[in-house]
Amino acid sequence: MAEKLVYSSKINKIRSFALILIFVGFAVMYGGLLSKSIEWLMLTLFLLGLLFIILSCVVYFWIGLLSTKAVPIMCPSCEKPTKMLGKVDACMHCKQPLTLDQDLEGMEFDEKYNKKKYRNEVKAKMKNDQ
Ligand SMILES: [Zn+2]
Repeated sequence: MAEKLVYSSKINKIRSFALILIFVGFAVMYGGLLSKSIEWLMLTLFLLGLLFIILSCVVYFWIGLLSTKAVPIMCPSCEKPTKMLGKVDACMHCKQPLTLDQDLEGMEFDEKYNKKKYRNEVKAKMKNDQ
């Protein structure tokens, strides 16, 4: 039996990335706190930590922008509302692979389908196989 891969939705992925950035930022700042006897090191670590936190704010802002562009749909699997980014994405709740492209329905989930060129290649191949 083929192993079933679990895909997490893109919005969730970016969100966890932003969360990690915040933790890294705080960890670096904490490192600065520990090295307060060395002034330049403390200052550098604090600034670096601040940079990570600012970056994470930017990423959060970016998610906000992406969310407005995402297509809200009802997941056919768990019947919860979820959002899709691009043509192929996964449900935020049950990780069910979803597609907006009818031609790709029932096919192996692959994030590469978000690239139009790749999608067309696959479709052309499918037609040739028939
Ligand atoms: Zn779902």
